Amino acid sequence: MRNFILAAMSAALPTAPQALGQDRPDWALVVHGGAGVIERGAMTPETEAAYRASMQAALDRGETVLEAGGSALDAIEAVIQGMEDDPLYNAGRGAVFTAAGRNELDASIMDGATLNAGAVAGVTQVRHPITLARAVMEESRHVMLQGEGAETFAVEQGLEMVAPAHFFTERRWASLERTLDRLGLDIPPRPEGAPDPEPVDHGMLDRDAREHRFGTVGVVALDRAGNIAAGTSTGGTTAKRWGRVGDSPILGAGTYASNESCGVSATGTGEFFIRLTVASRICALVEFQGLSLQAAADQVIQDELTALEGDGGIVALTPQGDIAWSFNTPGMYRASLTAGGKPVVSIYGDED
Ligand code: ASP
Repeated sequence: MRNFILAAMSAALPTAPQALGQDRPDWALVVHGGAGVIERGAMTPETEAAYRASMQAALDRGETVLEAGGSALDAIEAVIQGMEDDPLYNAGRGAVFTAAGRNELDASIMDGATLNAGAVAGVTQVRHPITLARAVMEESRHVMLQGEGAETFAVEQGLEMVAPAHFFTERRWASLERTLDRLGLDIPPRPEGAPDPEPVDHGMLDRDAREHRFGTVGVVALDRAGNIAAGTSTGGTTAKRWGRVGDSPILGAGTYASNESCGVSATGTGEFFIRLTVASRICALVEFQGLSLQAAADQVIQDELTALEGDGGIVALTPQGDIAWSFNTPGMYRASLTAGGKPVVSIYGDED
């Protein structure tokens, strides 16, 4: 579609494609750290400052790669690896627990230039699930691996493996206990190797429960070569059961990228994002209906997701460097940067 429009435009206006090319920023980056009921006054100033600093650090890592001419895929991996190591997010260390008291991690990555993609679900010992997703894309003939097999592949690829207790945080364990209590389910033993129990800040737990935060992380990047890529990493939802897998590792639901339209990464209650194929649907509206990125994102999140009573949001980016985000929760940790521009870091719904 876009090629067709460009061809049609170049016939009528020979200079138009060049002008479009000149408008495109050299590179661009948009990041989320999860959506939820995040309201002003509900977070301590220290916690808010920690999130803002962490989102800025995420932009800095992406900028370093993209400014130096690195690929969108390299930028995504660099940004997400850092977030997987940061216990603020529900990805890698700091991931939420399953009802059985495990951290089962999901991630995916997609290359908009080739539509190549890789995804992993339910891994428990890989320090950086996003790197494993990329290895699946680049080093296997499959797109999606899960559980033990995915971990065997990770070992074969020489990726960094950690004990499951690496992902443990007291805050998430305490949230699990509360959730299981509410559901009337038994509390499992603390994971082997977890540190001794520490007192937790009950104010923070109250806020976590009230805020119903997601904390998944995701990135869409555009590199100097004009290629889009998207990636997402998560621990899923607290007290998930029976090998539950959410949208984050499902291409087209939680992650999608195509140079013909856009890249998207999502966060929210994954079941709804799977049913609506949120990420690819936004890109299809851009590609086939000619909607602007923001209009497409708003149609899917504000109208369609809301109509299903789903909650969450997305960040998105086109190969022309247009950036959009949309969420139907009170807040979403989010940040963006384009070459030569000023960084934007926002949390609440009433910010830019
Ligand atoms: N979308 C994720 C899932 O359902 C959760 C999140 O966004 O935090 O697994």
